[in-house]
Amino acid sequence: MKTVSAPYQFKGGIHPDYHKELAWKSAIERMPNPSELTVPMSQHLGAPAKVCVSPGDAVKKGSLIGEQNGFISASVHAPVSGTVKAVVQSCSATGRSCQAVVIESMDDGETEYFEPIVEWLHTHKERLRNRIGEAGIAGMGGAGFPTRVKLSPPHDKPIDTVILNGAECEPYLTSDYRVMLEHADKICIGAEIIQHILGAKTVRIAIEDNKPDAVRAMEKACAQERQGIEIDILPTGYPQGSEKQQIYNITGREVPRGGLPMDVGCVVENVGTSLAIYEAVVHGQPLIERVITVTGEAVERPANLLVPFGTSYRKLVEHCGGVRESVAKVISGGPMMGFAVGSLEIPTGKTTSGLVLLPSGCIQQFSSQACIGCGRCVDACPMGLVPSELSQFIEADDIEGAERIALMDCIECGSCAFVCPAHRPLVQHMRRGKTGVMARRAAADAQTRK
Ligand code: SF4
Ligand code: SF4
Repeated sequence: MKTVSAPYQFKGGIHPDYHKELAWKSAIERMPNPSELTVPMSQHLGAPAKVCVSPGDAVKKGSLIGEQNGFISASVHAPVSGTVKAVVQSCSATGRSCQAVVIESMDDGETEYFEPIVEWLHTHKERLRNRIGEAGIAGMGGAGFPTRVKLSPPHDKPIDTVILNGAECEPYLTSDYRVMLEHADKICIGAEIIQHILGAKTVRIAIEDNKPDAVRAMEKACAQERQGIEIDILPTGYPQGSEKQQIYNITGREVPRGGLPMDVGCVVENVGTSLAIYEAVVHGQPLIERVITVTGEAVERPANLLVPFGTSYRKLVEHCGGVRESVAKVISGGPMMGFAVGSLEIPTGKTTSGLVLLPSGCIQQFSSQACIGCGRCVDACPMGLVPSELSQFIEADDIEGAERIALMDCIECGSCAFVCPAHRPLVQHMRRGKTGVMARRAAADAQTRK
């Protein structure tokens, strides 16, 4: 095990104020089960899970309530014991509508977990992959891609490097940081399980240099008998946690346009996902809870909470003592890549990393102006795009033009909008343009199938 400075540094990026001091000293606290949870069937990328319980059914903590529904999908389990009260239509923080199972909770202390696989090192890789699939694990860094799929690369794409993403470059959020401080041993074992499944030579743990105690915790956990693990210190900056940028920083490899990390022999997993893999394999626990940072200048007592999925944002805020002043903006996730939400009734899920409540004093109101051609967005873009030009194509509804200059490479990091002196809504433009491209591709596919 060794610790090194990441040898490369991607071009672009920004340095926003981090505000992590609000919550980073708060040790992870288990949130009491609310009396009722609304558990969404879509907490991951891909097809929503298919509800497999009915109103009146008794469920135990960990029992299956939603079946994986297709190759890119993930199963959903009851985060608490109790009784199914209803199956309703709900929505996620991203506004995606889906079915949800409402459970009246009951603290009976009973669980329905899988058989632990203690001897995982001597267990067939396919069995471990299946366990990760049946446990419903999806990427907890934000994307929610089903982990079983990510850990099943085709034979012609061998993986030699597993990168464990502990950068947590989003302002305000401290959940990954606390998980590294408090569960470093389990994260390391999770990383070794991933390494074993993929047959990868090395594991590289990526942590920003503003988290020295997390580095020390991971060094201590990985120090003994762990081969091929290296800690890579990244200079603090945004978006250090982005997959393609992290691969470049650590290995010098560039993921080709439209390609995936597996194209350059890498798989990137969040540290929270590694912890979930440990729990699923070693303790048989499906993914039913996660650590969420509840923070922001408007929150009375910022905290890092271990939350059963389906708990509403309102319950999180209440548990943190409510708000200290009126809230002007609520963000699900971090302020750079998260989503502003209009209601606290939204249920938490596998990709909910944080909830940020900001008072009016922390929000600046701008009106967008015409581009002045300053080029700052071009300097800031970590993907080497020309955001000003892309935005103009999209405003003119020339989606094909935007696609020609690599719109689909945009990772929606928001760096361009952050630096734009004309306050142009560049990320919103990129999202609208990408939705247009996807719609056009889907229509073309449908036409071909006719
Ligand atoms: S949001 Fe897209 S265009 Fe803007 S800086 Fe990030 S990657 Fe570049
Ligand atoms: S930063 Fe804003 S004003 Fe400057 S070139 Fe980019 S879009 Fe135009």
